Amino acid sequence: MSCNYAEGLSPYKDKGVLGVPEKFDSSEKLNEKCLILANLIKESKHVVVHTGAGISTSAGIPDFRGPNGVWTLEKKGKKPNVNVSFAEAKPTKTHMILKKLIECKKIQYVVSQNIDGLHLKSGLPRKYLAELHGNMFVDECNLCKRQFVRHTPVETVGKKCSGIPCGAGHAGGRPCRGRLHDAVLDWEHSLPENDLIAAELHSSVADLSICLGTTLQIVPSGKLPLETVKYGGKLVICNLQPTKHDNKADLVINYYVDETLENIMKILNLEIPSYNEDDNCIKLAEHSIIDWTISRKDILALEKIYKAKCKGVKKKRILIKNKEDRTDNAKIIKLEVKNEIKTEITC
Ligand SMILES: [Zn+2]
Repeated sequence: MSCNYAEGLSPYKDKGVLGVPEKFDSSEKLNEKCLILANLIKESKHVVVHTGAGISTSAGIPDFRGPNGVWTLEKKGKKPNVNVSFAEAKPTKTHMILKKLIECKKIQYVVSQNIDGLHLKSGLPRKYLAELHGNMFVDECNLCKRQFVRHTPVETVGKKCSGIPCGAGHAGGRPCRGRLHDAVLDWEHSLPENDLIAAELHSSVADLSICLGTTLQIVPSGKLPLETVKYGGKLVICNLQPTKHDNKADLVINYYVDETLENIMKILNLEIPSYNEDDNCIKLAEHSIIDWTISRKDILALEKIYKAKCKGVKKKRILIKNKEDRTDNAKIIKLEVKNEIKTEITC
């Protein structure tokens, strides 16, 4: 996540655990874990992917808490080397794979903590995306609360007014009298309501949550994948550093997200689309108004699904000690243990 964004945020003391060393699974272990994850995706009916800054590092945007992350270096009085601007940054392999998996209905929703706009640039429709911390390429009206795609990244952080009149029209042709504000949250802001509702409902309904490139330290975003577990679903985490909820996961993959998902696509026999500038609605936003508001209709439809599946269902308590007793997880745990032993022997 780039520096001009980090520098724009107000000072904040507790930035969580920083700079923990990264771990890498052996290629043999990675292949076995990818097979398990691909099968979980195939078997699941409702898959939600939670993304963090780690999925944008291969686009040249530094993360926050990695060994070279913005907050890790800040603690040492240093700044990361950034050689890409938000305007130039292109979607990574992971962004393109997620777009494809949504199209193929292999996954149903993406919940992102990233404000870099790369999911938007990849062509992922708003219907399938919650942006919990905002988006540098989106403006929001202070009156009608509609959101619009920007042609260039916003220069402010923290919902500041740009002075530009809202482009939305009301019934009867009256224009909205509101003004546009940036849609990027500062520390003290509460999360955008509709994004959070959609993310919570999808996470609760999901039978599989996959976390990519996040240490899950920021709340409430980092806690949402646990909703899936509470309702009996599975949790898979793919991250280089340990995360806050590794002990609650059914499977933890320590490897680069791009390579891990590339492997999954091979197993699923799906092609990875290359980035197509024509799908990037930021370009179109130069000459036309592109609405980026979450549809109320979509939220209502989702609430129906949630009520049918989750209402009246008692949430399961997450009991880590009992995890080994859960027979559906036994295979995964066993496989990982087997691999640990194998690694030890070969070393
Ligand atoms: Zn408005």
